[in-house]
Amino acid sequence: MIKILIVSVILLFIFFLIYAILPTILIRRSGRGIIKTIHAPAIALTFDDGPNPEYTPQLLDLLKKYGVKASFFVVGSKVKAYPDIIKRMSQEGHTIGIHHYDHISSWILSPLRLKKQLQMTEQAIKECTNEKVTFYRPPWGSFNCASLYLSKRYKVIMWSHIFGDWKVAKGKNGLLEELLQTTEAGSVLLLHDCGETLGADRLAPRYMLKCLEIYLQEKVNRGTKFITLKEVNF
Ligand SMILES: [Zn+2]
Repeated sequence: MIKILIVSVILLFIFFLIYAILPTILIRRSGRGIIKTIHAPAIALTFDDGPNPEYTPQLLDLLKKYGVKASFFVVGSKVKAYPDIIKRMSQEGHTIGIHHYDHISSWILSPLRLKKQLQMTEQAIKECTNEKVTFYRPPWGSFNCASLYLSKRYKVIMWSHIFGDWKVAKGKNGLLEELLQTTEAGSVLLLHDCGETLGADRLAPRYMLKCLEIYLQEKVNRGTKFITLKEVNF
């Protein structure tokens, strides 16, 4: 009995390794099929996990104030809950991409369920914007064996800079300095406009927004250009 149990666990681990962990390592190390930087004389600001009814409108106000267009990787179920925020994003010229229908890692999704997550989110976005959905970022940047095949109709956007802004502590200490050090054109910056994800702090976006305001003030004044993904020539 114990023997069967041990063999089952080992087989399960091997399956998980081949189905989920190895594809993620290979894709992220090789960079094949994914985009981490852009060829543009500008920085791309990207925001994951929204829309959030409290923080996303504040973020949109901030971007508007500085005349900056960004890109949002949204969770489909939240798109359904807050369609007006998505409509506003679209009207104000931002790019809207897929971040799964629920914030679930591809590691625990079968190919069929992953396909559904992509389709349902695309449908939810389209209902709000009437725009073609071109971009996809998997939650936690994790892939499975079928990810690139199932998402081949989209451009898979990762990031060049990730800051840990989903933690309040980071927003209070270090985030602003790290943001300000990011000056290279072609960078893709990943931030979060919702703190409801597993492992995140609910209040974290409040501190991210405070840092982002100072960052934008500084950068826009110095002539740094920002670009939304649909303006990039891929
Ligand atoms: Zn996410």
